Amino acid sequence: TETYGAEFLARWLTAAAEDVDREADRLTDLDSAIGDADHGANLKRGFAAVAETLAKEPPGTPGAVLTTAGRQLISTVGGASGPLYGTLLRSAGKALGDEERVGRERLAEAFGAGVEAVARLGGAQVGDKTMLDALVPAAEALRESFAAARAAAEEGALATVPLRARKGRASYLGERSVGHQDPGATSSALLFAALADTAAE
Ligand code: ADP
Ligand code: MG
Ligand code: MG
Repeated sequence: TETYGAEFLARWLTAAAEDVDREADRLTDLDSAIGDADHGANLKRGFAAVAETLAKEPPGTPGAVLTTAGRQLISTVGGASGPLYGTLLRSAGKALGDEERVGRERLAEAFGAGVEAVARLGGAQVGDKTMLDALVPAAEALRESFAAARAAAEEGALATVPLRARKGRASYLGERSVGHQDPGATSSALLFAALADTAAE
């Protein structure tokens, strides 16, 4: 079965940076409805820094790519999403250790650990209308395939529309958060779409 090295993970995060850049206005529009209208700008800055760092000093292992990217997000993104996505990638990277190449199932396990770390840090769970509504099902579905993870993340993001936010800025709106798609769940779906695209190349 297929295995993935550092170069694959760097290609994923570089593709993700391009997708975030292209979709930044849409992410910011979603955040202007139930937040402070900065999610697109936050992630654009963070992922641009990630892509730049990975290009300049390519880490040698999949785990190192993820931990480097996570550290970069934490240091460049001021909003809630920086530490949360940073923790996702750092914890996933740590879970991979110093293995040179990993299979999809190892990646799924690592993302599972990353998602748990995000839940611990933010105190949210599925149904709270956060990025976890996309990340939890995506990490789970990644055990099956990249395409399944992409579909699960997209479905999870869409499923945030009728929910009332219980964590983050959107929770300040109470009932008024209902009827809007969560920006972070939407960016999580973008990340898993980029992963599936990279795997399909
Ligand atoms: P900020 O809210 O600080 O401006 P962003 O706009 O970049 O940060 O990110 C907002 C997104 O972060 C939300 O849409 C939500 O998905 C996610 N988020 C916020 N708080 C939490 C939390 N406690 N747990 C998980 N995700 C969260
Ligand atoms: Mg915001
Ligand atoms: Mg903000």
